[in-house]
Amino acid sequence: MSILEKHITEPKIAYFSMEIGLRDDIPTYSGGLGVLAGDTIKSAADLILPFVAVTLISRKGYFRQEIDDKGHQIEHPVIWDPSKLLKCPPEKVSVTIEGRKVHIQSWVYFVESPRGKSIPVIYLDSNLPENSPDDRTLTDYLYGGDESYRIKQELILGIGGVRMLRKLGFEIKKYHMNEGHAAFLTLELLHEFKKDIESVWDEEHIWDIESVKDLCVFTTHTPVEAGHDKFSYELFKKVFRDYFPENILKKLAGQKNVNMTFLGFNLSNFVNGVAKKHGEVSQSMFPGYQINAITNGVHSYTWTCDSMKKIFDKYLPGWANEPEIFVRVGAIPDEELWGAHMEAKKGLIDYVNSLSDAAMDYETLTIGFARRATAYKRADLLFSDIKRLEQIGTGKIQIIYAGKAHPKDTVGKQLIEKIFSYREQFKGKIRIAFIQNYNMEIALKLVSGVDIWLNTPLRPLEASGTSGMKATHNGVMNFSVLDGWWIEGHIEGYTGWAIGPAPKEIEPDNNMNKIDADDLYNKLEKTIIPLYYNNRKSWIRVMENAIGKNAYYFNTHRMMRRYVTEAYIR
Ligand SMILES: *Cc1c(COP(=O)(O)O)cnc(C)c1O
Repeated sequence: MSILEKHITEPKIAYFSMEIGLRDDIPTYSGGLGVLAGDTIKSAADLILPFVAVTLISRKGYFRQEIDDKGHQIEHPVIWDPSKLLKCPPEKVSVTIEGRKVHIQSWVYFVESPRGKSIPVIYLDSNLPENSPDDRTLTDYLYGGDESYRIKQELILGIGGVRMLRKLGFEIKKYHMNEGHAAFLTLELLHEFKKDIESVWDEEHIWDIESVKDLCVFTTHTPVEAGHDKFSYELFKKVFRDYFPENILKKLAGQKNVNMTFLGFNLSNFVNGVAKKHGEVSQSMFPGYQINAITNGVHSYTWTCDSMKKIFDKYLPGWANEPEIFVRVGAIPDEELWGAHMEAKKGLIDYVNSLSDAAMDYETLTIGFARRATAYKRADLLFSDIKRLEQIGTGKIQIIYAGKAHPKDTVGKQLIEKIFSYREQFKGKIRIAFIQNYNMEIALKLVSGVDIWLNTPLRPLEASGTSGMKATHNGVMNFSVLDGWWIEGHIEGYTGWAIGPAPKEIEPDNNMNKIDADDLYNKLEKTIIPLYYNNRKSWIRVMENAIGKNAYYFNTHRMMRRYVTEAYIR
């Protein structure tokens, strides 16, 4: 009996994503996009949705981060053995790359929900002896290699993915593209729906665009033009040969380049951004398309630490599968909520002290900042005015950082070096630690063990952000620039605190760093530090609101119900 026998009995929603982060020992993710994909699948399983996911095997992972004492990032491949956790069905498909036949196999991992539902995740793999040595490496490195490597990976994901689903016996009723990397799947679907030349007026009409659009849903994640995947037609031609006529593709994917976002937009009947603001920003970038907004979430059970789980189970039974129950967070006695928080905080502080000479303590207000190290996230904004920070923070705060920079992101790497030099500079005044190799396990320790979660992106570049949502599930409130999801989740002094002006008050101003930093210092000094040390009861109220107002809403159960009603069933 095939391992997928019981999974091919009903039509499915097929969710395509270049990266999927389900657990750290399947290291096929780099950051937010992948973790969101993993959380999406976990919620789909809990909600018993007919779902199947498709991605690449990424045999060398993203990378393991090592940082030397100067703060230089060193990248190591993560070699992992898929056969430990995944099953390899015998079915194979092939795609044509640069005129060569490239064979593809798949690995399947089952995401099991406690409610009994199991969702297959298909990892495509070109490492087969019948392929050339180069082709065998095409599914090795997540976001590695050059343009040509990338377009081949996307060919495998989109075209190979559709073929593999067919071969394994799946019937698909919707294709959901999580970002543009998978958009070549639309071309394969156009081929499947191709009409007989005899039945149409002219050659162009053999391509049944409407039928494909009916099947496709596209989610965009990037609010900047440069962030969208684009390939030259020259490269497309070299890799795809005569797979698809260029004159038609130009109408669908753009005249200048093969723009994967345009391709997805033009062949999807439902397109969305990942927060309300991001929907609006995308709408103004792409006039002429209707862009909806479904705000991201996180998988509540995955992103709640053990000590919080314990009190949620006690006072809010059923919360994990019905996060709306967080509305009753007030049922938890203050001492128990604080106790659960302190348990998580001690765990984190012990962990940090075991890795470094930071010598942190349990009582000091602890600030967490962890995310991709890249320019727009402004990891160094907190250090804009060293004197001021020293004045405000000495003896009052300690700070924990983590985050990887993409191997080619020089500025991101410099940010890590900067944090390391500030760590030295502040020795004896403000304790600063940097935890290496940020991954999901470290993320959970951090978002649950700090007291406040800091986020300082340059507006409007944070499409949504999700780590702050994870924090709220652990009663850790956000102190963040009003961008992405926080515009929707923020009530000043009630769920957390804003940094800088509201998005509609922003004038085009290149002084944003100073404006934001000033506000950050003011609030830290006048509001947050006094509240933490002098008014624990009010502090705990804000923690409670983070759970009851933010975690209540910013979870993937709510998000998936919206995808079902607004995008999948239409
Ligand atoms: C949640 C998560 C992210 C995304 O965090 P953002 O705040 O959205 O940037 C990145 N990396 C890891 C390991 C995560 O768990």
